[in-house]
Amino acid sequence: MSKKSDVGARRFHDKAEKEREYKKQLPGEDDPPLPEPVEPIRSDKTPGRNDPCACGSGKKYKQCCGKG
Ligand SMILES: [Zn+2]
Repeated sequence: MSKKSDVGARRFHDKAEKEREYKKQLPGEDDPPLPEPVEPIRSDKTPGRNDPCACGSGKKYKQCCGKG
């Protein structure tokens, strides 16, 4: 094992250690992370009038189910 790689590994370890210490000082870091927002699949959501119609016709909403 070469001494050079040994030093490199230690430096990397020190850096990770330092970052952990730094993060400890940040407020709110102990709080559990917020759950990822889940995009609800809502078929009843009205699409934009120029968006493709949700019914799958391929027409614009305003020219399909959004007509009238
Ligand atoms: Zn439609």
